[in-house]
Formats: sequence, C-alpha cells, structure tokens
Amino acid sequence: MKICAATNNAGKLKELRRILEAQGHTVVSLAELGVTLDPEETGKTFAENAAIKAKAFCEATGLAAIADDSGLCVAALGGEPGVYSARYCGRHGDDEANNDKLLEKLAGLPADERRAKFVSAVCLRLPDGRSLASEGQCAGSIAFARKAGDYGFGYDPIFLPAAIGQPDGTTRPNAEGRSYAQLTPAEKDAVSHRGAALRAMAEKLPAFLADAEK
Ligand code: IMP
Repeated sequence: MKICAATNNAGKLKELRRILEAQGHTVVSLAELGVTLDPEETGKTFAENAAIKAKAFCEATGLAAIADDSGLCVAALGGEPGVYSARYCGRHGDDEANNDKLLEKLAGLPADERRAKFVSAVCLRLPDGRSLASEGQCAGSIAFARKAGDYGFGYDPIFLPAAIGQPDGTTRPNAEGRSYAQLTPAEKDAVSHRGAALRAMAEKLPAFLADAEK
C-alpha cells in the first residue's frame, strides 16, 4: 500500500522506508509530497505522540500515514530521556549534545548499571479515520563512550544492543559490544525497536485492512 512516512527525521525516514519497502509497501516522504508540518508532540507516552503525528500527516496529505515515536529509556535514570529523547539537551534534534548529556549523567556507573532499552510506538492512520498501533523494544545498555560507525543517527553511537541480526534472519548475542551505529542496516533492523514495531504492525495489517473495506 502507498504510505506517507510521517516524519521530519532523516534517520527515521531511511529506516521506515527500507523496512516498509521490504514488506512490499510504497513509501512517500513529506519532501516528495511537498508537505511541511511539525505537529506539537504533547503526548505523555510514545503511543500518544505517534497517534498525534500520524493523524496530523494523514489529514495534511490525504494519504495513509505512518508515524513512529521512539526514544531511549535508561533504567538508572528512571526511564529518562524517554519521550524527551529528541530534545534531552534542551534543543530539538541536537544528537551530539543529547549523547554528551547522557554520557555525563551516567559517568562513573559500571556496565551492569547502564541498562537501557529503545522503544518505538508506531501508528498507521487511514484517511477514513481508523488507526492501527503497535510497539517494539530493543534491550541493551549505554556505552562508556561513543562507538561511532558508518551507520545510524541519534543515540546510535552510544547504544549497545543485547543482540545483533544475522543474514539468515536469526539473532545472536552482541558479544563484541558493537553499537547500533556499527551495525549494518540489516543487522540493526532485525533487532531494532523500530524493526520490531513494524513487524508487529505488518502481522496485524491484513486483518485491519480487510476490516476497513467492510
Ligand atoms: P521523536 O521524533 O520524538 O520520536 O524522537 C525520537 C528521538 O529518539 C530521536 O530524535 C533520536 O534521538 C532517538 N531515536 C529514536 N530511534 C532511534 C534510533 O534508532 N537510533 C538512535 N536514536 C534514536
């Protein structure tokens, strides 16, 4: 199906596009549609914010729209930065400053106290007003310093997923401690929070669409 990727984040757009296209969908970006819109994320949960964005972009484009609201939850910080992940340092989208702040907050904490998880809530909104939601998580920990690689965005250089995807579609423990930024797209998608949320959505989609046609 033709779906508008309801995001202004280039890193997310890339991931939404490659995961959804692998599932057989056609993804159109806001840039391709000439839509500029930055809805206020007033929700208290990832799911609420995903629903706000999907609705806003579906109404603006007249197309089915899929939005992801996601973030990093660090156990030692009571779940911070959570829904504030994009603006943790006080400015929206300053990845470098966000990473610096998180590393500073965790300074001195040993590896076993640096547990974290990425969460992604996804919402697909149809022009008829119906919507479908799903969620995915990826467990891991925060590195002691950046581990930059060839890939990724946001907190990728400091997040060490517990598992890594393999070419045959299975996963294995991340024994070598690579960061999200050091995983190939396929290795990340197989274990990532967004990959999990979009796979969960793909499973529910046929029944949801069949219902919508009734
Ligand atoms: P949102 O647009 O409010 O959902 O912002 C989510 C923020 O979480 C992004 O700006 C990133 O900082 C971070 N984030 C979400 N997913 C990822 C990811 O896969 N890698 C790294 N950072 C991510």
